[in-house]
Amino acid sequence: MRILVIEDEPKTGAYLKKGFEESGYTVDVAADGAEGLLLAKEVAYDVIVLDVMLPAMDGWAVLKALRATHATPVLFLTARDDISDRVKGLELGGDDYLVKPFAFVELLARVRTLARRGPPRESDLLSLGELEVDVTRRRVKRGATRIDLTPKEFSLLQLLVRRQGEVLTRTQIASYVWDMNFDSDTNVVEVAIRRLRAKVDDGFDVKLIHTVRGVGYVAEIKDSL
Ligand code: CA
Repeated sequence: MRILVIEDEPKTGAYLKKGFEESGYTVDVAADGAEGLLLAKEVAYDVIVLDVMLPAMDGWAVLKALRATHATPVLFLTARDDISDRVKGLELGGDDYLVKPFAFVELLARVRTLARRGPPRESDLLSLGELEVDVTRRRVKRGATRIDLTPKEFSLLQLLVRRQGEVLTRTQIASYVWDMNFDSDTNVVEVAIRRLRAKVDDGFDVKLIHTVRGVGYVAEIKDSL
């Protein structure tokens, strides 16, 4: 079990890290919202404990940005026992909240519950325009057309659609899809993208997978003309 704690107060961060580690979790601590969001997108966490008042990017902004692509369970910590804060957090896609100050045993119990529950099932249905990716059933459809993909092509498409609108570098793609780093001169990612495009975009007017020259690839629906 791996937990990300996004907390700017060093003492609280260290206290939470120690507590979770003693309970058998692997813990990363991010001291500001921007760093936290980056980690939350890069690493597969079981639960994220998110402070609301944070430098660089507050907890609400982190949650909102994270939910565009990730369904990792989030428990947010709010210093203010204000009903509007709780509602806001839950509306933005938070899974639970705890008001500071709190007892660690309560936080631990809630984190355990969230970790057991895992991300909600809805997150397993991804879409980009008329393209649908059903992660659970490993099925892909574009409109009424069923698309058959190899396991690697499926992982690649899943990554691109989950992170739609975000340019992913070849190195990022290689580390996610093949779980390893390739030498920069390898063209394995390019070849896989080409095959995926042939299946997903060929024959359709609207292209979904785009090359960003010198950088990498992005899945998105570009404004026409
Ligand atoms: Ca704080």
